[in-house]
Amino acid sequence: MEYTNDITNTVMHETKKPVILIVVDSLMRQSIQKLIQEGKAPAFSFLIKNGQFLPEVISSYPTMSVTIDSTLLTGTYADQHKIPGLIWYKKDENRIISYGSGVSEIWSLGVKNVVLDGIVNLNKEHLNKNVQTIHEELSKGGMQSASINGLLYRGNYRQLLNVPKLISAMGLLPNKIDMNGPLLLSLGTFSHKSAKNKYQMFIWRKFGFNNQFSVNELIFLIEQNKLPSFTLAYLPDADSHIHKNGPEDIKPIEKADQYIQQLLNSYSTWEEAIEKVVWIVHGDSGQTKVIKDKNTALIDLNDLLKDYTFWERNKSGEIAIAINERMAYINLIKENIDLSKIIETLKKDMRIGIIAWKEGETNYVTSPQSNNTFTFSPTGSYKDLYNQSWKIDGDHSILNLKIDNQGLIEYNDYPDALARLHGALYSHEGRFIIVDAKPQFEFIEKHSHNHVGGGAHGSLHKIDSLVPLIIAGTHEKPEYNRLIDIKNWILKLTK
Ligand SMILES: [Zn+2]
Repeated sequence: MEYTNDITNTVMHETKKPVILIVVDSLMRQSIQKLIQEGKAPAFSFLIKNGQFLPEVISSYPTMSVTIDSTLLTGTYADQHKIPGLIWYKKDENRIISYGSGVSEIWSLGVKNVVLDGIVNLNKEHLNKNVQTIHEELSKGGMQSASINGLLYRGNYRQLLNVPKLISAMGLLPNKIDMNGPLLLSLGTFSHKSAKNKYQMFIWRKFGFNNQFSVNELIFLIEQNKLPSFTLAYLPDADSHIHKNGPEDIKPIEKADQYIQQLLNSYSTWEEAIEKVVWIVHGDSGQTKVIKDKNTALIDLNDLLKDYTFWERNKSGEIAIAINERMAYINLIKENIDLSKIIETLKKDMRIGIIAWKEGETNYVTSPQSNNTFTFSPTGSYKDLYNQSWKIDGDHSILNLKIDNQGLIEYNDYPDALARLHGALYSHEGRFIIVDAKPQFEFIEKHSHNHVGGGAHGSLHKIDSLVPLIIAGTHEKPEYNRLIDIKNWILKLTK
């Protein structure tokens, strides 16, 4: 394989309209609708008016970026793509993996580990090699693709990434790292095409992981006439603002609209933009308002499970807690720990909505709100709205399911609950319990940062799980309103 940093001589063999998919981190339906009403979102307005608007599309689970991006890229849930969350416990290495979140947590796990996991291992080791990414499948079919600021981007082309001096000087990574990506890979300071982006590389510009970088790269491809069959671009800026200010803060979405305007403006008219390109814009997860009172808002799992000892770096313990904001994995490291005793303890906290685990081939769910359990496993006499078949038993009200007398399962508070929960329960090795918080609450442990008075996601609940999808430039749409169905849809659009 050859390195492909210079694209001047690259010829794009395109027969169909190129597809650009833009993921706006934490884009929510309510924000778009409010901005449109106030006349503050001309780009979203234009695309919706001249295309389709699907306000409630189901994300992956846990509703954390890396898990969702992996679902988008592979068309599978976490049981197959094997990225369990932003933070998870890897049994064979007896350590907590984090792809980078709060400062305290990064120090506690070791800066070098976090950098290596987030930049290298995520794509090279952890993303299941037995599933194909959309980049890999397109190139197999002779088509090209691009990834701009996506953290997951595995493809069939060798890409040499430039490591920022600050990181290499600290000995965290070598100067250059060899990765496999799509033909066109832009990844902040690690790899860029547009000359404009040399001003985006500073640490205070998040090393290029910002909206302006992504838009500059995309405009460069458009102006150079180098748009491949498929481009996946991320606009990351809104997420951190909404975490801080809560989901009612619509300013970051208004700004996202301005960046999309820049893209549409790179054509002589916006009509021309949708004539020439299929535009898809969607969010990755919603955010739930976390209440202001710290003691009520935060479910401290160290405190709740204080009878046990906890895993820490260079120190073993009975339990390893992996927090993903409003969901958490509680990994039982020691074989002799009684699972039912922990579940009884967890059931005392009414802020928890769901407690789930598996035994043998069966998945179990209970809740502090119920004295019963519900069990389910794939393939049985019940079918859900997405044509998935299930064997189920017990109190299905725990997952708020509606089942008609034909055996058809409909979802309500927890969209596509069975497949998504099954995905997380089979996302990694070992014995573990999943806890999922009710709206307004968030899990923490000793090292987590929190979002009291702001916004958080991660849960199976519809507030975190439903995202808007805007499509312009084609009348087609995914088979179901789920992010897991986008990959196959795009493969069809580009064929
Ligand atoms: Zn977030």
